Amino acid sequence: MSDCLFCRIVAGEIPADVVLRTDEMVAFRDISPQAPVHVLVIPVEHHANVAELSAKAPQLTAKLLDAAAAVAAQEGLGDQFRLVFNTGAEVGQSVFHVHGHVLGGRDFTWPPG
Ligand code: 5GP
Ligand code: ZN
Repeated sequence: MSDCLFCRIVAGEIPADVVLRTDEMVAFRDISPQAPVHVLVIPVEHHANVAELSAKAPQLTAKLLDAAAAVAAQEGLGDQFRLVFNTGAEVGQSVFHVHGHVLGGRDFTWPPG
């Protein structure tokens, strides 16, 4: 999908700080990080959101979760990370190529501390 921002990142048409790449997955740093570690993990194959991905490609969904955990470990977060899939414009999804936000490196508990 040439009009999809993340397909264009996969294709190398738009530069990104890639931290992990396999035949099926790409992970790159978010351009506007909300935490010390903020990496987006996406499948190479285009699906609009995580619901569509899990319905149409369950094995790829499992691989995406594995890749997210691998990124967290690689980034030094161990098993302490937040994984977010915004699904739908009303909850803030702005890029309609499924992506997991791997977030960590700060306190996410509420109230903080
Ligand atoms: P969403 O709001 O759809 O869940 O997340 C989209 C994310 O993509 C946002 O956190 C935004 O900062 C990030 N983003 C948007 N455009 C680019 C870009 O060109 N490069 C990178 N690395 N991240 C982007
Ligand atoms: Zn795409």
